[in-house]
Amino acid sequence: MLKTKRLSIVPTFLCTLRCKLCSNHMAEFQKPPTASTEELKRDIDNLFLLFDKIEWLQFVGGEIFTHRHLDEVFKYCKLYEDKFDRLIIETNSTIMPTDAEFEALLSFGNKLKVMISDYGELSKVRDEFTMVLDKNNVEYVLKKYYGDNQHFGGWIDNSKMNDIGETDEEINMKAAQCPQVRLQNMHCFKGKLHRCSNSLFISELGISNPNKRDFVDLNDRTISKDEKIKTVDNFYKTATATCRYCRWKDADNAELMTRFGAAEQV
Ligand code: SF4
Repeated sequence: MLKTKRLSIVPTFLCTLRCKLCSNHMAEFQKPPTASTEELKRDIDNLFLLFDKIEWLQFVGGEIFTHRHLDEVFKYCKLYEDKFDRLIIETNSTIMPTDAEFEALLSFGNKLKVMISDYGELSKVRDEFTMVLDKNNVEYVLKKYYGDNQHFGGWIDNSKMNDIGETDEEINMKAAQCPQVRLQNMHCFKGKLHRCSNSLFISELGISNPNKRDFVDLNDRTISKDEKIKTVDNFYKTATATCRYCRWKDADNAELMTRFGAAEQV
């Protein structure tokens, strides 16, 4: 039985903000790619062919509501509703979902939870958005990312993307404790299922080639379902190719990792 705590589907790398310390490196993409509705539906089919249970099925970007056709995608997730516990939406509240997107989301009732990164003045539709959520009794979290007392003390700086120079032993030891690993936070974009956000985004940037064991090509019919399940089952047993470049490994270590104010624009 294949399970995961978190599975994040990325509809688009396009964002309405250009944050200097974006942990997903979005500002580095000169032409941010977007998955079509058909590609997203295919990914959803392929994911639920492998997974028996996903605790949190998440949609993260970029800013997901730049996509404008996610209503069809959210509706498609209903086909697999019994295989996930919560539908989680991550947004920076700079852009309102369309009426059709809201309608599709609200059909999930108590399963729906919205995580809003609240960047103060940058999050232009925050109040309008939360008003609709309040009116419909939707659970949401406002992560305060402006002024004093920011969520988690602010952001870490994972923007450098250079080889940190740690030994293989250090990398393996630290990667096993990485918060992304503890959450089993897999990320999927256009048929590629990576074991964490950094593996997906740094690989898409072409900065690092993922090892075969770091991701599954969901669309590759030459790889059997059992082989794909085995790869996912082994995702967190060793470090990824991108762990060498990644500071998430030290994110929980306050002595090693300074926190910065969020969302400074490039
Ligand atoms: S690349 Fe490694 S250290 Fe970075 S988030 Fe992924 S598992 Fe953690």
